[in-house]
Amino acid sequence: MWETPDWHEDAECAKPENLKYSENFYANKPSQQYPALKLCGECPVRRDCALWALNNKQTWGIWGGLTPKKLRRTLSVNWAGQEMRHKRFPLCPGCAAKTSSLQTKVVDRPEGGRWSTMKVVYCTECKFVWQSRTSANAVDAYHSQEEKKNNDD
Ligand code: SF4
Ligand SMILES: [Zn+2]
Repeated sequence: MWETPDWHEDAECAKPENLKYSENFYANKPSQQYPALKLCGECPVRRDCALWALNNKQTWGIWGGLTPKKLRRTLSVNWAGQEMRHKRFPLCPGCAAKTSSLQTKVVDRPEGGRWSTMKVVYCTECKFVWQSRTSANAVDAYHSQEEKKNNDD
C-alpha cells in the first residue's frame, strides 16, 4: 500500500467540507466528474498530485485534475495498464501542451544502485517532469515519426 504523501495535508479533496465529493472522483460521467475537477482546479497541490499519480501508474479516479482517460493517455496505457504505442500521444499533464512540447531525457536515480539511471519525460513549456517508461516510449515514438515525416518531405 502507498504511504500518504506529505502534500495530502493541503489537498482540497481532503478538507472536511469537501468529503461529500469523494465519489465524484471515481465517477464515469463527465457531469458527475465536474465537481471533482472543479476542486482540483482550485487545489494548491495539483501538480504534486498529478505527479504522484503518474509516477505510481494510478489510473483509477481523478488525480491532479486528470481524469482516468487523461491519465491513461499521458501514460500511454490502456484501461488494463498495458502499453499502447503509437495510438494517441501524451499531452503535458501540467499545462496540456501538445506532444511536440514534450521531450525525454535520462537522469540519475536519486537512490543510485545497479539501475542507476532512468528516463523521464519533461515539458519544455511548464517544466513538469515525470517518470514513466511508457510515456517516454510514446514521446520518443512521436518525435521519430515527426523526424521521418520531415525527412520524407
Ligand atoms: S489535485 Fe484534486 S485529487 Fe489531487 S489533491 Fe487536489 S483536489 Fe485532490
Ligand atoms: Zn507543460
